[in-house]
Amino acid sequence: MKRPRRPIKRKGAARAAESPAERRARTRKIVARLRREFPEAKCALDHTSPLQLLVATILSAQCTDARVNMVTPALFAKYRTAADYAAADPEQFQREIQSTGFFRNKTKSILGMAQALVERHGGQVPDTMETLVALPGVGRKTANVVLGNAFGKNEGIVVDTHVQRISGLLKLTRESTPEKIERDLVALVPRKDWTIFSHLVILHGRKTCIARRPKCESCRVSDLCPSSRI
Ligand code: SF4
Repeated sequence: MKRPRRPIKRKGAARAAESPAERRARTRKIVARLRREFPEAKCALDHTSPLQLLVATILSAQCTDARVNMVTPALFAKYRTAADYAAADPEQFQREIQSTGFFRNKTKSILGMAQALVERHGGQVPDTMETLVALPGVGRKTANVVLGNAFGKNEGIVVDTHVQRISGLLKLTRESTPEKIERDLVALVPRKDWTIFSHLVILHGRKTCIARRPKCESCRVSDLCPSSRI
């Protein structure tokens, strides 16, 4: 006798039916588990002031945080105020940040940004998205880093390559540009967790959900991940 066919359970199909409320609940569980796994999660760029973090974040474009942290101690000791950066000799500055890559553009951004701080903000780093992104060399991602980590303001979610890749694997977004991914994520992640979310996902991406060889078998959120291989 022919045995009746059992319906095939397909994870992707099941997730396609996930409602926004279910996705929000799943996201909250992911955040809670990653918080437990990485209780020490914080900004990986060493800094003690908004200005230092702004400079370090501009330097971190196309560069590792570890490399930036090697360069910034000498830089921060030499340039203490926005006026110090604004008065810096560009060629000398290029040499000082050379090892972070793209040093000509970064020099232009940092010295231009410092000049604008002196001219428009009395040398202080402003604490709103609108004023930050109006500074030369400062985009939304840099502004989000500074607002979240130097001012404790959850204005958005930093979308770097780890956040972009892992949000896609977790099916928290189907978008491929940072702006649209951020729009999806802010609708799912509780606002109080916007800043920590990026740090948690970055640590998860370095330890477990490694590009091209994710360790799904030891992943703390595998049962919440539609892309899990187990
Ligand atoms: S289950 Fe696998 S793909 Fe999903 S988040 Fe974990 S490591 Fe990444």
